[in-house]
Amino acid sequence: MKIQAERRDVRHLYIRVRRDRTVLVTIPRAMPDAVWQQFVESRRAWIEASLAKIPPPAQYAYTDGEVHWLLGRRVTLRVQKGGENRCRIDGDTAVMTVRSAHSDRAALLGACWAQELSAVLSDLIVQWAPRMAVHPAGFTIRRMKSRWGSCQTRTGALTFALDLAVKPVACIESVVVHELNHLIEPSHSPRFHALMTHWLPDWKERKRRLEAFPREFS
Ligand SMILES: [Zn+2]
Repeated sequence: MKIQAERRDVRHLYIRVRRDRTVLVTIPRAMPDAVWQQFVESRRAWIEASLAKIPPPAQYAYTDGEVHWLLGRRVTLRVQKGGENRCRIDGDTAVMTVRSAHSDRAALLGACWAQELSAVLSDLIVQWAPRMAVHPAGFTIRRMKSRWGSCQTRTGALTFALDLAVKPVACIESVVVHELNHLIEPSHSPRFHALMTHWLPDWKERKRRLEAFPREFS
């Protein structure tokens, strides 16, 4: 078990199990080592159970014919030589053109997946923001280690994890609703969860599916 400990200006100790299988322990500055170490030890069973639930990352070689996940469906990668590096989706095929053997195929695929995710996120936000009477200030997509999204309640800026691009749209939708819901209720309070159930009665099931789905980008 890889434990990463950091001291910060927090009131309580907390443990976060990240999708890359590292365990992040955030410790109040004044807490003695023996105290937090004992606490982590007491939560070992929970940490191990959480680690066991994380699907291993898929290993990809980005070769012709390789099958990837995109928005919950299977997409076959077709790689061809061409004058420029690019990648686009055509039905259930990702058509990748590479200039040379040195072209960064992983980066090309990541950029293409980000574009597909961006279109889905835009649609979902356009659909949900008016229904929830919130006013988000746009979104960005980036690689995130332990979360699926974040929301700056002061500015309304949203961030989403690139890895959502491989997940079914129903799962992405639950993350969008979660982040928009923070514009109504900033903390994960009972009110927050009651609102989630109001917007999406099956949000817990969607979250379970999201966590269990194969992962490609971290
Ligand atoms: Zn949240």
